[in-house]
Amino acid sequence: MPEKQSFVQFVNEVIPRLNIKIIKKETSPLMHLCNIGLKFTNLLGITTVEDFMTTYVTTVGRKIYWPGEGEKGNNLEVTSTLLHEMTHVVLDHVMDFYKVKYLCSKKHRARIESICVLTEMLYLPHLKTEEFCRWRAGAFVSYGIPKTLMETELLKRLQDIEAGLPSAMAPSWIIRCLKKWQHLNT
Ligand SMILES: [Zn+2]
Repeated sequence: MPEKQSFVQFVNEVIPRLNIKIIKKETSPLMHLCNIGLKFTNLLGITTVEDFMTTYVTTVGRKIYWPGEGEKGNNLEVTSTLLHEMTHVVLDHVMDFYKVKYLCSKKHRARIESICVLTEMLYLPHLKTEEFCRWRAGAFVSYGIPKTLMETELLKRLQDIEAGLPSAMAPSWIIRCLKKWQHLNT
């Protein structure tokens, strides 16, 4: 997938109100403010986020804040991250009280992140395993989500794919868009 931006543009054309934007993280005053806030939540033991400005891709509303030239890279990991973050944007549009849920409840945060990881698993189907879920859960500990809670949510999402439950709707939609976009560009 050589042109990430044009996939984002394609999705924006399908649903204009999504209006997804990719922004260089280091240029964002909001992200610098978040970085300061995280230093406090780290001190309080709520989070353990280090190198927030350089190693984390962060999505707020319709904006995806990407450090450096990250999203320009052409590899599966970059695309997988993009799809994960786009799922956050879609969920923010379709889920009631998304931001409050994400910020105020570990359980909801785990559920939301697990739905975004589900998109990764649909993109790279070989990841649809319990082993991957257990490994991937570790990445969310720094966000204050206990590993066991995240594992449980991820394993539920694996079952949701098979059962066609609503939690799989946003991930499935994004992957359908990706396939359409790839089809148009081949
Ligand atoms: Zn996420």
